[in-house]
Amino acid sequence: MTVSVDPTLFRYVDLLHESRHIEQARRTALAGQGLSTRTVAWLERGAYEYDLRLGSRFGFSDEYMNWLNKRVSDYWTPSLRTKLRLSERTRKKFEGIWR
Ligand SMILES: [Zn+2]
Repeated sequence: MTVSVDPTLFRYVDLLHESRHIEQARRTALAGQGLSTRTVAWLERGAYEYDLRLGSRFGFSDEYMNWLNKRVSDYWTPSLRTKLRLSERTRKKFEGIWR
């Protein structure tokens, strides 16, 4: 996996977010899973939730926490929520990978 960054825009907090994606990719490979468009949305949700956990722990600003919550909402669509609630197979597929 390669992570490309624009050094003029990239912040340390972005590196933390990307580090979660690297961990997710490692877990995905270990589980023998593939990546799809739908998977990417789940992984983004997981990475932004990771950022929120860090924010709670280290006191990120309310403005940034609100932005992170919005990003989770953007990725955690009603169809994905329904899929997770109704499909045990999907839950098992993503358990241990996305968070
Ligand atoms: Zn991301």
